[in-house]
Amino acid sequence: MPLSGAAAARAYGQANAVLSSAGRIDHQARGTLDSLQGRIDRQDLIIQTLLMILLEKKVIHEDEFKEWMLYVDELDGTRDGRLREDKTPVVCPGCGRNSPRSAPKCVYCGHEFEPEFLLRRPEKPA
Ligand SMILES: [Zn+2]
Repeated sequence: MPLSGAAAARAYGQANAVLSSAGRIDHQARGTLDSLQGRIDRQDLIIQTLLMILLEKKVIHEDEFKEWMLYVDELDGTRDGRLREDKTPVVCPGCGRNSPRSAPKCVYCGHEFEPEFLLRRPEKPA
């Protein structure tokens, strides 16, 4: 599964801090960091291209796009300019036990989770 932009940025920041505090640069780690930075840069390019197309073709107005960004930002429960994976378990409506949020169905009883059940969605922009 490919890294999301936020996950790649987090991994890059953490790895960079470790390298700085140790006062040395490991060539293998540097290669990984460069690879992650390259992926982040590529994702930035794709996102900017998509946004420019949407605005240029008047599919969406910039203010409306910003409202949607706030909406998506809050999908992880925190308005912080990032979208983090929610790692809190869900209580299965089928058996009442805790199941990982990342699983499409309960790991105990097999109850299939609806996407709406896994995401606590705030009100969508009009
Ligand atoms: Zn269950």
